[in-house]
Amino acid sequence: MSEQELRQQLVTVARRMQSSGINQGTSGNLSVRIPGGMLITPSSLPYELMQPTDLVALDLAGKPLQPAEPGRPSRRPSSEWRLHADVLASRPEVQAVLHCHSIHATALACHGRGIPSFHYMTAVAGGHDIRCAPYATFGTQALSDGVVEALQGRLACLMAQHGQVAVGPTLDRALALAVEVETLARIYLQARAIGAPPLLSGEQMEQVRHQFRTLLYGN
Ligand SMILES: [Zn+2]
Repeated sequence: MSEQELRQQLVTVARRMQSSGINQGTSGNLSVRIPGGMLITPSSLPYELMQPTDLVALDLAGKPLQPAEPGRPSRRPSSEWRLHADVLASRPEVQAVLHCHSIHATALACHGRGIPSFHYMTAVAGGHDIRCAPYATFGTQALSDGVVEALQGRLACLMAQHGQVAVGPTLDRALALAVEVETLARIYLQARAIGAPPLLSGEQMEQVRHQFRTLLYGN
């Protein structure tokens, strides 16, 4: 896919973050890998106003990949660019990174809790649970390091007192996973209303992962 096509697709998926209800204001951000770095949503620009040319191209050290074009306002990258860059650098198989403050996932993360194996769909993030990265100030290396660690062997994690991150082989898959994480968090909070729900065993979760592999991906 050309960079122009990726820019258009990123804007489309960013707007779907809005319509799916997982985005709150301009707090979410989205990136996709390109040769030499990434495209990322700009800081503080509502998605309904965002155009493909507003996306910021950075290398994975945070350096601009392209000079600002004359006559066009140069945008600042999302304040969470470091987190996106570090995830893309540490996970070569990941093509897209999505971060948002979806309500239920964030509510759970405000207790420093991840999502345990209370429901079989928890395995959709690649493991038996979805971890919660420790709190650190937004935009910092400490936050990025905690997220990269919480994502080990996983495609999603929560972030304490902050939100969630979902990654994937495409922008669409990262969005679908973020919506699923939000749904799981919502169900988990509901389930806890009448006490801590029982958890599926490691063996049961492995069987789910096996089913996902054979039924959804045919291998
Ligand atoms: Zn955030």
